[in-house]
Amino acid sequence: MDTILEFKNVSFSYDDDGNKAVSNLSFTIKKGEFVAVLGHNGSGKSTLAKLSNAILIPDEGQVLAMGIDTADETRTLEIRQHIGMVFQNPDNQIVATIVEEDVAFGPENLGVPPEEIRIRVDKALKAVGMYDFRDHEPHKLSGGQKQRVAIAGIIAMQPDCIVLDEATAMLDPNGRKEVIKTIKYLHEEYGITVVFITHYMDEAALADRIIVMNDGEILFDDHPLEVFHHGKELREVGLDVPQATEFAIALNMKRKVLTTEDALEGLIGILEKGSSEG
Ligand code: ADP
Ligand code: MG
Repeated sequence: MDTILEFKNVSFSYDDDGNKAVSNLSFTIKKGEFVAVLGHNGSGKSTLAKLSNAILIPDEGQVLAMGIDTADETRTLEIRQHIGMVFQNPDNQIVATIVEEDVAFGPENLGVPPEEIRIRVDKALKAVGMYDFRDHEPHKLSGGQKQRVAIAGIIAMQPDCIVLDEATAMLDPNGRKEVIKTIKYLHEEYGITVVFITHYMDEAALADRIIVMNDGEILFDDHPLEVFHHGKELREVGLDVPQATEFAIALNMKRKVLTTEDALEGLIGILEKGSSEG
């Protein structure tokens, strides 16, 4: 299946006061994509995440996960196996007292045979770089390590897509880096489709595509550089373009500039060639 997720004119309200948490969302996520969903607090990111694997069901419109309508209650488990979710708080996701038992929990619930679980758990822990911690107690790990164990638990269910809902928001800078590195590795080495929800612009910049949410609606859905060209609109909704990108746009650089290093290389290029080829 080439299409992992499809939202068709999806709206959802938590209550019946007429305030929609998300309204009229339409987008498609294809196999192998790395998509960031960016937006300030309350813009509807978590609602979008929960709609993607049948934690929430649309009031209007339709969500298809691997072609399955999430409103079909008989197939909820199947959908959750295809679309795995990692949440913000690492402590709320720990279910066992030993790391490898924690990772085994998901596949056990799916009825995977024990010998197959053993293989999957070891493989998942190696993939997130936590194999050496397999017999440790999860609650004693750092935040970044706990999130990597949570990611291993999802990977062990062999999903097609992993949705991370601000999975780095509670981590220190080191933990954030660990988790991002892990996700990029899983995407590049295993081809897993990633939906990376964040309010950090620099993290969103790592994706191939950014969906910007504002007030429950999609404001932009485009390549990071295209999105960052809309500095004024982004600032109006409380988001900031990375400084390096703004600098590059001001100098009309042609290269992709998302970090200070990129901007510096571009600037050197301009100075050397006396052009804007940077
Ligand atoms: P984000 O994840 O971007 O912060 P949410 O999807 O959590 O945004 O929230 C979107 C809107 O829905 C906000 O107005 C928020 O107050 C509201 N909302 C979120 N969760 C609930 C809930 N459980 N009950 C009522 N309203 C909610
Ligand atoms: Mg949220």
